[in-house]
Amino acid sequence: MRKPVIAGNWKLYKTKQEALSLVEELAPLVADAGQVEIVVAPVFTVLPSLVPAVAGTQINLAAQDVFWEEEGAYTGEVSSRMLLDAGASYVIIGHSERREYFGETDETVNKKIKAALNGPLIPIFCIGETLAAREAGETFKVLERQVKGGLAGIGAAQFAPVIIAYEPVWAIGTGKTATDAQAQEAHAFIRGVVSELYGAAAAGKVRILYGGSVKPENVKGLMACSDIDGALVGGASLKAASFASIVNFGQ
Ligand code: 13P
Repeated sequence: MRKPVIAGNWKLYKTKQEALSLVEELAPLVADAGQVEIVVAPVFTVLPSLVPAVAGTQINLAAQDVFWEEEGAYTGEVSSRMLLDAGASYVIIGHSERREYFGETDETVNKKIKAALNGPLIPIFCIGETLAAREAGETFKVLERQVKGGLAGIGAAQFAPVIIAYEPVWAIGTGKTATDAQAQEAHAFIRGVVSELYGAAAAGKVRILYGGSVKPENVKGLMACSDIDGALVGGASLKAASFASIVNFGQ
């Protein structure tokens, strides 16, 4: 039985005070969601101030990126050691916005996943095809390349905590959710690639989240799919009521 994960990616939104208000409003609304692992990912600067606010709640903190070196002359970067120090226990890696705007590649994603695992932080490893790739019939090819590239050199024991997030790029922030069938098909394929890499038992355990225009209205259908184990939520995670109703999808 895989415990569902509902994660909110706040992207470049929320100052310290706004983030605190959101968490304070959210915490009581998700207090009964014991069956769900809840994660929120604010900007780096906000992480430490949320630590007291999430203490004693069901909410866990994630960062939105990490650098692969522990320390050194790398102006502007943040390491997994520093993220742990700031209160994060998860980290989003390889989000399509980072791949598109900040030159992230399968190779840098791979280094970041390794650094996160060494932290130790739980990586939320993002993959997903563009619209052009889908229309060219290359969805599976892209997903296989991203999964294998991101996980290169990571052994089965090390892989165990990794969470994968399938986010079709064409569904992010567009209001176009993948249909339940499209998402399920991609998730089953990804689980198959994990099985090829790490065996059936590991594939049976890995949580694969869907991301891309997840809303209170479509979360139930997605979560009913056998290979969908949670959601990575952007826009709808910025308001306590909508994020809580996604977290509480089963109630
Ligand atoms: P939206 O939910 O706003 O489409 O964003 C999805 C996403 O990118 C989460 O990481």
